[in-house]
This record gives sequence, structure tokens and C-alpha cells, in this order.
Amino acid sequence: MTTVNRRSFLTRSLAGAGTLVASGSVLAQPLLSSPKTALLAPTGKRRVVIAGGGWGGLSAAKHLRALAPDLEVIVLEKNPIFWSCPMSNKWLVNAVDTDLLAHSYIIPAKKYGYTFVQTEITDIDRSAKTVYTSDGFIKYDWLIIAGGIRYAFEAWFGNDQKTTQYTKTNYASAYIPSSEHAFLKNKIQNFKGGTIVMTLPPPPHRCPPSPYERACLMAWWFKEKKIPAKIIILDPKPRIAPITIGYQKAFTELYSDIITHVPNATVKEVDPYNKIVKTAAGDFKFDEAILMSPHQAADLVWKADLIGKDKAGKPTGWAAVDPQYYNTESDPQVFVIGDSVGSVSIHFGHYPKSGHVANREARLVAKYIAAQAKGVEPKAEMIDNLCFMLVNNSPKEAISVSFSYTMGPDDEILQKAIDDNDRRPELWAEDLKWLGGMYGDFL
Ligand SMILES: Cc1cc2nc3c(=O)[nH]c(=O)nc-3n(C[C@H](O)[C@H](O)[C@H](O)COP(=O)(O)OP(=O)(O)OC[C@H]3O[C@@H](n4cnc5c(N)ncnc54)[C@H](O)[C@@H]3O)c2cc1C
Repeated sequence: MTTVNRRSFLTRSLAGAGTLVASGSVLAQPLLSSPKTALLAPTGKRRVVIAGGGWGGLSAAKHLRALAPDLEVIVLEKNPIFWSCPMSNKWLVNAVDTDLLAHSYIIPAKKYGYTFVQTEITDIDRSAKTVYTSDGFIKYDWLIIAGGIRYAFEAWFGNDQKTTQYTKTNYASAYIPSSEHAFLKNKIQNFKGGTIVMTLPPPPHRCPPSPYERACLMAWWFKEKKIPAKIIILDPKPRIAPITIGYQKAFTELYSDIITHVPNATVKEVDPYNKIVKTAAGDFKFDEAILMSPHQAADLVWKADLIGKDKAGKPTGWAAVDPQYYNTESDPQVFVIGDSVGSVSIHFGHYPKSGHVANREARLVAKYIAAQAKGVEPKAEMIDNLCFMLVNNSPKEAISVSFSYTMGPDDEILQKAIDDNDRRPELWAEDLKWLGGMYGDFL
């Protein structure tokens, strides 16, 4: 007989009273469970656990089911609905509807025949091939970690949790799928005027061109609504990048009275209480702010002990995995994909941290796992990247950047980036087509 003590009951109630399990056939879950309970009963099949159901995780799940139908595929995700960060800047100013961003997790799970479990992953023990969640543990044969990014507020505030929480709550950056997006939308749409400061994270960070897109769309909103607003972009880089000229033209031709871009503005100190950011390019007072801390690989990568070390032995903050196979030599059945992946080449460092790249890596890793499952040597393939950014909302005009990758003679990956700086409505149409293609690949 199972006994339930008060602590495990409380843990269970607080952590996941509404645990949702969806698959080709919906599985019954015990009402009460604890981290010591098996999350799902074994099925006798070899199992792939996917930690994180964002752009990378859902793409991997769909392609694995197609390429390796004999494997059981389970997605573990803490959020109740899929929320897309791509297109979210447009949503902040009503350029697109909520329907474009928010999607059920159950529909793709049923459509492609994998199991979706809404639960929070609390630990990963690679030596025991086990993932621990707020609702029980689960064993895996293969593990794909697709947890996205974490905000590294400790770079600004050390262990000061009070200031970290204050900053997250009052000056949320909305760079992780969460309720921050709705908070930020409300803030922008109710802004009455004054100075908004945006701190950009130092590279590498999630979606490098997107903070500039956000500035453009906010400026468009304030212009339309005749709100006397100034937006100051504090950029640690020496210049806007990528799509340098396209953004420079948008800033000067469309929003010169609203947007100021400050280069070399590495953050030295943030005082959210007195509303001041001190940078290498000067001190900036604000009425409102979007305070983007530095980014790092998701907590899940730290839990799995897969963070790389630099030459001095310091953590790089990003996953140390093979640049083409996304696993490690010592643990070839554990993969990291998406934004958490660390530097892949001495020539350019990280792949751009985009949904497109996460999808491409997911598709490759699904192929690699399918090959491993058949006992075949997987063959490495290259990815690509494509990104559209809306800089004007009336008329809708976008700019874009595309990336291609080849293997160099020194066995290091080479990157070629092409900016399309000429803002025009056709690129917005292309953006929607791109999104349709991506969603069609995993939702
Ligand atoms: C404003 C903005 C605009 C963008 N625009 C574009 C664009 O136009 N094009 C483009 O290609 N990319 C764009 N991106 C980037 C894109 O969102 C990311 O690169 C992409 O989401 C990365 O996929 P991922 O799977 O690595 O992470 P995510 O999509 O963030 O997925 C990670 C998932 O893991 C889950 N997770 C994390 N920890 C746990 C845990 N402990 N337990 C359970 N689940 C967990 C999270 O809840 C999340 O659902 C944009 C990003 C932003 C913020």
C-alpha cells in the first residue's frame, strides 16, 4: 500500500497539482506522486526523454517519432502552453494576434504520437540515466536537453536575491517563454511618456537582432499613439549587429526623435531602486526599463553537468558539446540542442541563438539518435539560419539576415552571413511564410 506523508503531499500539491500527460493515447496518472515515484511506467521500449518543450524540444520529438517509430519519445515541459518567443515583439504592439504565439502541447503530442508531460525538471543524473521532476523520476536511454536559456542576474547582483527578484518583477525582459511577455505588453501599451532604457545582454545571447526589432516596434507604437517617449538602447557591442545598415536606417529614417543607440555601453552597475544604469559609456537614468541580464545555458545544462570550462577552468556558461553531433564523447547518448549550445567554431563562436537553429539541430539529433538506435554510424550534417525582423508596422516592413555554414580546411565550421538591409513589405510576407513552415514542422 502506498503511504503519502504530509511533506510529499504538499510538494506534490504545490509543484504540479495539475500534471498533464498527453500522448497518442492519454495515459492515466496517479493523483499523488513524489520525486521518488516513477513518472511513467516502463513500456518495454527504448526511451528518449526530451527535457524542454520549446522550439528545439518539440521539433526533436516530432522528427524522432517519424525516424525511429520503435522508440518511446517523452517531452517534459514545465509550462502549460507552448509560447513562441519568435513573433513576440510583434505581439507586444498588436501587430500579430495571440493565436499566432500560443499553442496547445496536447495537439502535436497526439498528432505525432509522443508523450507530453507537464512537469518541472528538478535534477538530471547522467550516471544513473535518470531525470528527476516535481512529479517523479524517469529513466532514459537517450536524453535531449532543450531547455533554452537562463537569465544570469548574478553577473549584476551576486547573491542578492531581493534585487534580482525586484528587477525581474519590475523590469522584466521577456526573453524566456513566461508571463513576462504579457507584463511587458501591458507596460508598453500603458506607458504615458518618459525615458525607457533597454540594456542589451553581452554576446552570446538569445536572438541577437531581436532587441533592436523590439526598440523599433515600441518606437512605432509611441509614434502612433503620440506618446512623448525616448528609448535608449545600451549596447555593449561597438555597433549594431546583425543587419547593421537596415537597423541604422530604420532608427534614423523612422524613429530618430525616439531611439538613441549607445554603443560600447557595457553595464557596470544596475540600481533598479533608484532607476539608474551605469555603463562604460556613461550613466543613464530611466523612468521605465527593460533590463536584459547576460544570458547563459538553461539551468538544465548545469544540472546535467555539461557546462564547458575555459582555459582558466572557469565555466563558460554554455554547453560543451560536439559542434556537429551535439553530444559528448564520454556520453554519446546525451545531446544538447538550441540556445544552450556553446561555441561551435574558433572562427565565429556560437551559432545564432534562434528558433530556426534549434529546429535544425533538433532534426539532425533526431537523425543521429535514429541511426544510433539501428546501430549505424550517424553522418554529420550542417545547419542553416534565417531571421526576419519587423522594423515598421504601418506599412509592415521587415529586414532579414541569413546564415550558411560549411566545414573549413582546418576542420572548423565557417559562417557566411548575408544581411538584407532594404526594409520592405515582401520580407514581412516571407517572415509569415517562414513561421508557417516552422510551425508545420513541429506543431
Ligand atoms: C523577442 C524574441 C524574438 C525572437 N525572434 C526570433 C525569430 O524571429 N526567429 C528565430 O528563429 N528565433 C527567434 N527568437 C529566438 C528563439 O525564441 C529561441 O532561439 C528558441 O526559442 C530556442 O529554442 P530552445 O528550444 O533552445 O529554447 P526554448 O524555445 O526557450 O525552449 C526551452 C523550453 O524548456 C523549458 N524548460 C526550461 N527549464 C525547464 C525545466 N526545469 N523543466 C521543464 N521544462 C523546462 C522552457 O519552459 C521552454 O519551454 C526570438 C527570441 C526572442 C526572445
